[in-house]
Amino acid sequence: METMKGKVVMVTGAAAGIGLACAEAFARAGATTVLADINTPEAQALQLRNEGHDAVACGCDVSDTRAVKEMVGWIVRTYGRLDAALNNAGIQTPQRPMAEITDEEFDRTVAVDLKGVWNCMRYEIIQMLEQGGGAIVNTSSQGGVTGFPGQAAYIACKHAVIGLTRTAAIDYAARGIRINAVCPGVIRTPMAEELMRRNPELEKELVRDIPAGRLGKPEEIANAVLWLCSPQASFVEGHALLVDGAFSIH
Ligand code: NAD
Repeated sequence: METMKGKVVMVTGAAAGIGLACAEAFARAGATTVLADINTPEAQALQLRNEGHDAVACGCDVSDTRAVKEMVGWIVRTYGRLDAALNNAGIQTPQRPMAEITDEEFDRTVAVDLKGVWNCMRYEIIQMLEQGGGAIVNTSSQGGVTGFPGQAAYIACKHAVIGLTRTAAIDYAARGIRINAVCPGVIRTPMAEELMRRNPELEKELVRDIPAGRLGKPEEIANAVLWLCSPQASFVEGHALLVDGAFSIH
Protein backbone atom coordinates (compact mmCIF):
# COMPACT_ATOMS: atom_id res chain seq x y z
CA MET A 1 0.00 0.00 0.00
CA GLU A 2 1.36 3.40 -0.97
CA THR A 3 0.53 5.07 2.36
CA MET A 4 3.30 7.67 1.95
CA LYS A 5 2.48 8.61 -1.66
CA GLY A 6 3.32 12.26 -2.37
CA LYS A 7 5.35 12.66 0.84
CA VAL A 8 8.97 13.78 0.97
CA VAL A 9 11.01 11.97 3.62
CA MET A 10 14.64 12.06 4.74
CA VAL A 11 16.43 9.31 6.66
CA THR A 12 19.92 9.68 8.14
CA GLY A 13 22.22 6.72 8.62
CA ALA A 14 20.46 5.23 5.59
CA ALA A 15 23.42 3.31 4.13
CA ALA A 16 22.97 0.32 6.45
CA GLY A 17 21.00 -1.36 9.21
CA ILE A 18 17.95 0.30 10.68
CA GLY A 19 18.24 3.47 8.57
CA LEU A 20 18.39 1.48 5.34
CA ALA A 21 15.39 -0.68 6.32
CA CYS A 22 13.41 2.47 7.16
CA ALA A 23 14.39 4.23 3.92
CA GLU A 24 13.34 1.12 1.95
CA ALA A 25 10.02 1.01 3.78
CA PHE A 26 9.33 4.72 3.14
CA ALA A 27 10.24 4.38 -0.55
CA ARG A 28 8.13 1.23 -0.97
CA ALA A 29 5.23 3.06 0.70
CA GLY A 30 5.43 5.64 -2.10
CA ALA A 31 7.47 8.45 -0.49
CA THR A 32 10.14 10.42 -2.29
CA THR A 33 12.95 9.27 -0.02
CA VAL A 34 16.31 10.96 0.59
CA LEU A 35 18.86 8.45 1.90
CA ALA A 36 21.48 10.44 3.82
CA ASP A 37 24.67 8.98 5.25
CA ILE A 38 28.31 9.86 5.85
CA ASN A 39 28.99 7.03 3.33
CA THR A 40 26.87 8.28 0.43
CA PRO A 41 24.31 5.46 -0.17
CA GLU A 42 24.34 5.62 -3.99
CA ALA A 43 23.99 1.86 -4.50
CA GLN A 44 21.13 1.61 -1.99
CA ALA A 45 19.21 4.47 -3.64
CA LEU A 46 19.89 3.02 -7.10
CA GLN A 47 18.52 -0.35 -6.00
CA LEU A 48 15.29 1.35 -4.90
CA ARG A 49 15.03 3.32 -8.15
CA ASN A 50 15.54 0.05 -10.07
CA GLU A 51 12.55 -1.34 -8.17
CA GLY A 52 10.54 1.65 -9.43
CA HIS A 53 10.65 3.78 -6.29
CA ASP A 54 11.59 7.42 -5.88
CA ALA A 55 14.86 7.50 -3.94
CA VAL A 56 17.99 9.64 -3.97
CA ALA A 57 21.30 9.46 -2.08
CA CYS A 58 22.92 12.32 -0.23
CA GLY A 59 26.33 12.37 1.46
CA CYS A 60 26.11 14.13 4.82
CA ASP A 61 27.92 13.97 8.16
CA VAL A 62 25.16 14.80 10.66
CA SER A 63 27.68 16.20 13.15
CA ASP A 64 28.46 18.97 10.63
CA THR A 65 25.87 21.73 11.15
CA ARG A 66 26.58 23.40 7.82
CA ALA A 67 26.32 20.11 5.89
CA VAL A 68 22.95 19.34 7.49
CA LYS A 69 21.66 22.86 6.74
CA GLU A 70 22.77 22.50 3.10
CA MET A 71 21.16 19.06 2.78
CA VAL A 72 17.77 20.18 4.13
CA GLY A 73 17.99 23.32 1.95
CA TRP A 74 18.70 21.14 -1.09
CA ILE A 75 15.73 18.86 -0.30
CA VAL A 76 13.39 21.84 -0.01
CA ARG A 77 14.72 23.49 -3.19
CA THR A 78 14.41 20.20 -5.10
CA TYR A 79 11.12 18.80 -3.79
CA GLY A 80 9.45 21.88 -2.30
CA ARG A 81 8.82 20.41 1.16
CA LEU A 82 9.83 17.89 3.84
CA ASP A 83 6.98 15.88 5.34
CA ALA A 84 8.80 13.43 7.57
CA ALA A 85 12.30 12.71 8.85
CA LEU A 86 14.05 9.91 10.70
CA ASN A 87 17.15 11.15 12.53
CA ASN A 88 18.86 7.83 12.96
CA ALA A 89 22.61 8.08 12.20
CA GLY A 90 24.58 6.82 15.16
CA ILE A 91 27.89 5.35 16.30
CA GLN A 92 29.02 3.38 19.31
CA THR A 93 32.09 4.04 21.42
CA PRO A 94 34.58 1.25 22.13
CA GLN A 95 33.30 -1.04 24.89
CA ARG A 96 35.05 -0.05 28.12
CA PRO A 97 34.27 1.33 31.59
CA MET A 98 33.28 4.98 31.79
CA ALA A 99 36.50 6.41 33.27
CA GLU A 100 38.54 4.82 30.47
CA ILE A 101 36.65 6.53 27.64
CA THR A 102 38.86 9.23 26.10
CA ASP A 103 37.82 12.84 25.52
CA GLU A 104 38.00 12.24 21.76
CA GLU A 105 35.71 9.20 21.96
CA PHE A 106 33.23 11.06 24.18
CA ASP A 107 33.25 14.16 21.96
CA ARG A 108 32.75 12.20 18.72
CA THR A 109 29.91 10.14 20.23
CA VAL A 110 28.13 13.27 21.42
CA ALA A 111 28.78 15.01 18.07
CA VAL A 112 27.09 12.24 16.07
CA ASP A 113 24.56 10.65 18.44
CA LEU A 114 23.26 13.83 20.11
CA LYS A 115 24.34 16.92 18.20
CA GLY A 116 23.60 15.09 14.94
CA VAL A 117 19.97 14.70 16.01
CA TRP A 118 19.91 18.31 17.22
CA ASN A 119 21.33 19.59 13.91
CA CYS A 120 18.82 17.66 11.81
CA MET A 121 15.81 18.59 13.94
CA ARG A 122 16.60 22.32 13.80
CA TYR A 123 16.52 22.56 10.03
CA GLU A 124 13.67 20.06 9.62
CA ILE A 125 11.58 22.07 12.09
CA ILE A 126 12.30 25.39 10.35
CA GLN A 127 10.94 23.90 7.10
CA MET A 128 8.00 22.14 8.76
CA LEU A 129 6.94 25.41 10.44
CA GLU A 130 7.10 27.09 7.05
CA GLN A 131 4.84 24.47 5.40
CA GLY A 132 2.51 24.04 8.40
CA GLY A 133 3.45 20.65 9.83
CA GLY A 134 5.36 17.39 9.64
CA ALA A 135 6.49 14.34 11.58
CA ILE A 136 9.93 13.67 13.04
CA VAL A 137 11.24 10.46 14.61
CA ASN A 138 14.59 10.31 16.42
CA THR A 139 16.35 6.99 16.96
CA SER A 140 17.14 6.52 20.64
CA SER A 141 17.56 2.98 22.02
CA GLN A 142 16.42 0.61 24.75
CA GLY A 143 19.62 2.10 26.18
CA GLY A 144 17.74 5.42 26.32
CA VAL A 145 15.78 4.04 29.29
CA THR A 146 18.26 1.52 30.74
CA GLY A 147 22.04 1.27 31.18
CA PHE A 148 24.47 -0.96 29.29
CA PRO A 149 27.95 -1.94 30.52
CA GLY A 150 30.90 -0.21 28.89
CA GLN A 151 28.79 2.21 26.82
CA ALA A 152 28.54 5.29 29.06
CA ALA A 153 28.91 7.96 26.37
CA TYR A 154 26.55 6.22 23.93
CA ILE A 155 23.93 5.55 26.63
CA ALA A 156 24.13 9.16 27.87
CA CYS A 157 23.40 10.35 24.32
CA LYS A 158 20.48 7.95 23.90
CA HIS A 159 18.92 9.21 27.17
CA ALA A 160 19.48 12.77 25.96
CA VAL A 161 17.77 12.06 22.62
CA ILE A 162 14.60 11.19 24.54
CA GLY A 163 14.84 14.45 26.52
CA LEU A 164 15.37 16.41 23.34
CA THR A 165 12.45 14.64 21.65
CA ARG A 166 10.05 15.29 24.54
CA THR A 167 10.97 18.97 24.87
CA ALA A 168 10.81 19.67 21.14
CA ALA A 169 7.48 17.84 20.97
CA ILE A 170 6.04 20.24 23.54
CA ASP A 171 7.57 23.26 21.79
CA TYR A 172 5.99 22.44 18.42
CA ALA A 173 2.87 20.34 19.13
CA ALA A 174 0.52 23.30 18.64
CA ARG A 175 2.11 24.07 15.28
CA GLY A 176 1.44 20.74 13.62
CA ILE A 177 4.82 19.06 14.07
CA ARG A 178 4.76 15.68 15.82
CA ILE A 179 8.09 14.61 17.27
CA ASN A 180 8.67 11.12 18.69
CA ALA A 181 11.52 8.71 19.40
CA VAL A 182 11.89 5.04 18.58
CA CYS A 183 13.88 2.92 21.04
CA PRO A 184 15.14 -0.23 19.33
CA GLY A 185 16.23 -3.25 21.34
CA VAL A 186 19.09 -5.34 20.01
CA ILE A 187 18.56 -5.38 16.25
CA ARG A 188 20.63 -7.47 13.87
CA THR A 189 22.51 -4.74 11.94
CA PRO A 190 26.19 -4.09 11.09
CA MET A 191 26.47 -2.15 14.40
CA ALA A 192 25.20 -5.09 16.48
CA GLU A 193 27.16 -7.64 14.40
CA GLU A 194 30.36 -5.69 15.14
CA LEU A 195 29.67 -5.82 18.92
CA MET A 196 29.00 -9.57 18.71
CA ARG A 197 32.09 -10.14 16.58
CA ARG A 198 34.23 -8.60 19.33
CA ASN A 199 32.52 -10.75 21.99
CA PRO A 200 31.33 -14.08 20.56
CA GLU A 201 29.42 -14.96 23.78
CA LEU A 202 27.42 -11.72 23.62
CA GLU A 203 24.61 -12.90 21.33
CA LYS A 204 23.78 -15.84 23.61
CA GLU A 205 23.85 -13.55 26.68
CA LEU A 206 21.66 -10.93 24.99
CA VAL A 207 19.09 -13.44 23.77
CA ARG A 208 18.85 -14.89 27.30
CA ASP A 209 17.81 -11.42 28.52
CA ILE A 210 15.25 -10.76 25.77
CA PRO A 211 11.85 -12.23 26.73
CA ALA A 212 10.97 -12.56 23.03
CA GLY A 213 13.93 -14.96 22.79
CA ARG A 214 15.59 -13.43 19.73
CA LEU A 215 17.20 -10.31 18.30
CA GLY A 216 14.99 -7.88 16.41
CA LYS A 217 15.01 -7.28 12.66
CA PRO A 218 15.58 -3.83 11.10
CA GLU A 219 12.19 -4.16 9.33
CA GLU A 220 10.48 -4.35 12.74
CA ILE A 221 11.86 -0.90 13.59
CA ALA A 222 10.81 0.37 10.15
CA ASN A 223 7.21 -0.72 10.80
CA ALA A 224 7.16 1.30 14.03
CA VAL A 225 8.77 4.36 12.39
CA LEU A 226 6.31 4.36 9.49
CA TRP A 227 3.42 4.16 11.92
CA LEU A 228 4.81 7.07 14.00
CA CYS A 229 5.02 9.16 10.80
CA SER A 230 1.52 8.21 9.63
CA PRO A 231 -1.83 9.92 10.27
CA GLN A 232 -2.74 6.86 12.40
CA ALA A 233 -0.36 8.29 15.03
CA SER A 234 -1.89 11.78 14.83
CA PHE A 235 -2.13 12.23 18.64
CA VAL A 236 1.15 10.48 19.50
CA GLU A 237 3.60 13.20 20.50
CA GLY A 238 6.81 13.18 22.54
CA HIS A 239 6.59 9.40 22.92
CA ALA A 240 9.62 7.10 23.23
CA LEU A 241 8.39 3.87 21.63
CA LEU A 242 10.24 0.75 22.81
CA VAL A 243 10.56 -1.94 20.14
CA ASP A 244 12.71 -4.41 22.05
CA GLY A 245 11.02 -7.78 22.56
CA ALA A 246 10.26 -6.73 26.19
CA PHE A 247 13.97 -6.45 27.15
CA SER A 248 13.69 -3.16 29.01
CA ILE A 249 10.66 -4.12 31.11
CA HIS A 250 12.10 -7.51 32.04
P1 NAD B 1 24.72 0.74 11.67
O1 NAD B 1 26.11 0.99 12.14
O2 NAD B 1 24.40 -0.57 11.10
O3 NAD B 1 24.28 1.92 10.69
C1 NAD B 1 24.48 3.26 11.07
C2 NAD B 1 24.62 4.11 9.83
O4 NAD B 1 24.88 5.45 10.29
C3 NAD B 1 25.79 3.70 8.94
O5 NAD B 1 25.37 3.61 7.60
C4 NAD B 1 26.80 4.82 9.12
O6 NAD B 1 27.60 5.08 7.98
C5 NAD B 1 25.90 6.01 9.45
N1 NAD B 1 26.61 7.07 10.14
C6 NAD B 1 27.53 6.95 11.13
N2 NAD B 1 27.98 8.15 11.48
C7 NAD B 1 27.36 9.06 10.69
C8 NAD B 1 27.42 10.48 10.57
N3 NAD B 1 28.25 11.21 11.34
N4 NAD B 1 26.62 11.09 9.68
C9 NAD B 1 25.79 10.37 8.88
N5 NAD B 1 25.71 9.02 8.94
C10 NAD B 1 26.48 8.39 9.83
O7 NAD B 1 23.80 1.02 12.93
P2 NAD B 1 22.30 0.56 13.25
O8 NAD B 1 22.37 -0.60 14.16
O9 NAD B 1 21.47 0.50 12.02
O10 NAD B 1 21.87 1.81 14.14
C11 NAD B 1 21.06 2.86 13.67
C12 NAD B 1 20.60 3.65 14.86
O11 NAD B 1 19.88 2.79 15.75
C13 NAD B 1 21.74 4.26 15.67
O12 NAD B 1 21.37 5.53 16.14
C14 NAD B 1 21.88 3.28 16.83
O13 NAD B 1 22.44 3.88 17.95
C15 NAD B 1 20.44 2.88 17.04
N6 NAD B 1 20.25 1.61 17.73
C16 NAD B 1 20.71 0.44 17.19
C17 NAD B 1 20.50 -0.76 17.87
C18 NAD B 1 20.95 -2.10 17.35
O14 NAD B 1 20.88 -3.10 18.09
N7 NAD B 1 21.38 -2.22 16.12
C19 NAD B 1 19.84 -0.74 19.11
C20 NAD B 1 19.39 0.47 19.61
C21 NAD B 1 19.60 1.64 18.91
